[in-house]
Amino acid sequence: MKLICVGRNYTEHINELKNEKPENPILFLKPDSAIIPKKQPFFIPDFSNDIHHEVEILVKITKVGKYIDQKFAHKYYNDIGLGIDFTARDLQSKLKAKGHPWEKAKAFDGSALIGKWLPKSDFNDVNNINFSLLKNDTEVQNSNSKLMLWKIDELIAYISQYFTLKIGDIIFTGTPAGVGKVNANDTLTGYIEKNEMFSIKIK
Ligand code: ZN
Repeated sequence: MKLICVGRNYTEHINELKNEKPENPILFLKPDSAIIPKKQPFFIPDFSNDIHHEVEILVKITKVGKYIDQKFAHKYYNDIGLGIDFTARDLQSKLKAKGHPWEKAKAFDGSALIGKWLPKSDFNDVNNINFSLLKNDTEVQNSNSKLMLWKIDELIAYISQYFTLKIGDIIFTGTPAGVGKVNANDTLTGYIEKNEMFSIKIK
């Protein structure tokens, strides 16, 4: 299985990193080796001094699809989750400056936290989901899926033009504003509405 991640999907996050608004969704992949095993902490890797948290809504694919029409995209997922796209921001900045791929900064071992899942049927509208991230009990990120530049069904249609979606693949739908550095002994806790979706320690 693969993780398909979307970059720059919330206007305020684009502004905070002084990036340009893209014409199309920015996509990158993480391998399955990026996934943090259940109940394990996040270990700060030796190659970075500036690991950022990016909380993101996740979508789990339940049906194989290629060239999926946006109006049928809702048939390809049943579960909504929350996770973190851990990013080595210092390394990413160097790679971006050279025009190199982001993988070392985005797809390293332990760079993907996948929390619990909620059935899509729990939501009246997947384009109106509140979610947030707390760092040591202080809220650092808070947004709503209605603020995505490209909504879930649009993303599925777009992604499937390039990558066949397979059962178990997970889409990271992009992060809102409020990304920031994590330090050893921090605890990150993520919520969708009032549901705690994960809590992870940084080591
Ligand atoms: Zn991200």
